[in-house]
Amino acid sequence: MFRSAFIIFITLNLILLAACSTTPRRSTQPQLPAQVVLKLKAMPLNTHLPIPVKGISTNQLQDTWGNARSMGRTHEGIDILAPRGTPVTSATEGMIASLQGNTLGGTVIWIIGPAGSWHYYAHLEKQKRGLKVGDIVHVGEVIGYVGNSGNARHTVTHLHYGIYLAGKGRGATNPYPYLR
Ligand SMILES: [Zn+2]
Repeated sequence: MFRSAFIIFITLNLILLAACSTTPRRSTQPQLPAQVVLKLKAMPLNTHLPIPVKGISTNQLQDTWGNARSMGRTHEGIDILAPRGTPVTSATEGMIASLQGNTLGGTVIWIIGPAGSWHYYAHLEKQKRGLKVGDIVHVGEVIGYVGNSGNARHTVTHLHYGIYLAGKGRGATNPYPYLR
């Protein structure tokens, strides 16, 4: 008797939990402060950017732009190999624009940078604790840690770094020449 009551109690809790998790999530992007966005847009994007992984030097980089990927995609970025947990740093001045993960990238960070550029850091082990959308970041500031989340879970740990010159996911350009 007690046992069945307990099971009903657990079942009810599970139903409640399921109900909570189906609550529609706010799908709109949080409003980013327009003043900061305008200020960033007015800044030039340097033709040389620091490598956004601590301790990695230029001669360790490989140009992996345009390589074939699954589902007929081509590689829109550079893969920077580094041990799990290596700090990932911002390549630019910027503002955290999105921290929403996705199936390909896993744990990711999107940063709005100078001249309307967007910067994508993917396959992270984790984001820096307390990081939130709207935070201002500076060049070289730690934003997360190298991992192999998303579709990199069967590959070596690395940072996927993408530069988009025309907005979030638009105007992909090869980061390699910027990091050389
Ligand atoms: Zn990649």
